Amino acid sequence: MTSVSPHKKAKALKPTSRRPAKELCSECGLCDTYYIHYVKEACAFLNQQIGELEAETHRRSRNLDNPDELYFGVHQDMMAARKQQPIEGAQWTGIVSSIAIEMLNRGLVEGVVCVQNTKEDRFQPMPIIARTPEEILAARVNKPTLSPNLSVLEQIEKSGLKRLLVIGVGCQIQALRAVEKQLGLEKLYVLGTPCVDNVNRAGLQKFLETTSRSPDTVVHYEFMQDFRVHFKHEDGSTETVPFFGLKTNKLKDVFAPSCMSCFDYVNSLADLVVGYMGAPFGWQWIVVRNDTGREMLDLVKDQLDTQPVMSKGNRKEAVQQSIPAYDKGVTLPMWAAKLMGVVIEKIGPKGLEYARFSIDSHFTRNYLYVKRNHPEKLEEHVPEYAKRIVGQYELPE
Ligand code: FAD
Ligand code: SF4
Repeated sequence: MTSVSPHKKAKALKPTSRRPAKELCSECGLCDTYYIHYVKEACAFLNQQIGELEAETHRRSRNLDNPDELYFGVHQDMMAARKQQPIEGAQWTGIVSSIAIEMLNRGLVEGVVCVQNTKEDRFQPMPIIARTPEEILAARVNKPTLSPNLSVLEQIEKSGLKRLLVIGVGCQIQALRAVEKQLGLEKLYVLGTPCVDNVNRAGLQKFLETTSRSPDTVVHYEFMQDFRVHFKHEDGSTETVPFFGLKTNKLKDVFAPSCMSCFDYVNSLADLVVGYMGAPFGWQWIVVRNDTGREMLDLVKDQLDTQPVMSKGNRKEAVQQSIPAYDKGVTLPMWAAKLMGVVIEKIGPKGLEYARFSIDSHFTRNYLYVKRNHPEKLEEHVPEYAKRIVGQYELPE
């Protein structure tokens, strides 16, 4: 007789059904599977439990009295790195794709959860469980839209996978960690990226149309450490737009409510995090959270140039000034925005201090958003580390 596991009794929601987290849903994909059974506990927006899950995953919560852990989460090591031979078409130098390929090639895992795009639309996410290096490579580059990566979880059990790598952003990983024990895996590896200011597909279109000179030819973009948005176009050309010139009044409603309520920018529950914001321009930023993360990074160490992380400047004043400016939707004329961009690039925060600048700006904005739109959630939903970070600033009512 075959036993029936409890989650099989739950039924996935139809794609059009309203999600349990309502407008705060980040479309992480959990509710597209029978693991919706666990949604009340697992959803990052219904039950914030980063501290508890950190303790389970890394065997300790972050030390709030250690300034680096307060900001960047539990970690053993941080560094700046770049591939000696970058992967063409990757978001940065392709460290994420390279680790995934190495893990598959060496038999550490049998499959990799990652996200490709649909044939029709380069920005429409299509999560898959990749079984070949080619499938992993086809998932390189950010899909800058909410992506239901966990929607493929039902396939794990059906296909009998026992060793799995999941690549994902914070809200996906939080839900994944909450159901990890139900997946029947021998080993789960989690490779995370930081994530902020994501949008749904319609929001992305609005962002591209208000910000880029040629929205239809954008292949990828990133908010970079030089305080500019860098758009890469189909013909290989790059377009840069200073942050301070963004039409904040028009863009205010563009970001998904989930991302306006998120305090897990640095992907606290991944084993290894690969981003860019704590590294010098052109380099990627790596946070090794635990031994599993170390094992993953070691696989590609000989393909990387590395250097220690650095930190320069002081972000505090820039953050404090940006709070009311964002709140009022102030947009500078382009000449002033460019000038400000040049000045701040010269004297502004660099390395880890830039990462703190970005975390502070987003956490203060998001704290205000939750306070105004979901006051009943504020106390439970905002983690203690975020309360301490926000507490350094004066906020408008
Ligand atoms: P690649 O080798 O190109 O691989 C990218 C991987 O990302 C692929 O495996 C793909 O499966 C996965 N992926 C793509 N889109 C999504 C998605 N929507 N959801 C989940 N997984 C996805 N880093 C920072 O330091 N600061 C930031 O503010 C920041 N914001 C980000 C916002 C978003 C929406 C995303 C997806 C990433 C963000 N990152 C940020 C991470 C950074 O942009 C790079 O993804 C990271 O440095 C890896 O680069 P790479 O060249 O090694 O990745
Ligand atoms: Fe479900 Fe994920 Fe949306 Fe929460 S964020 S309601 S778990 S799909």
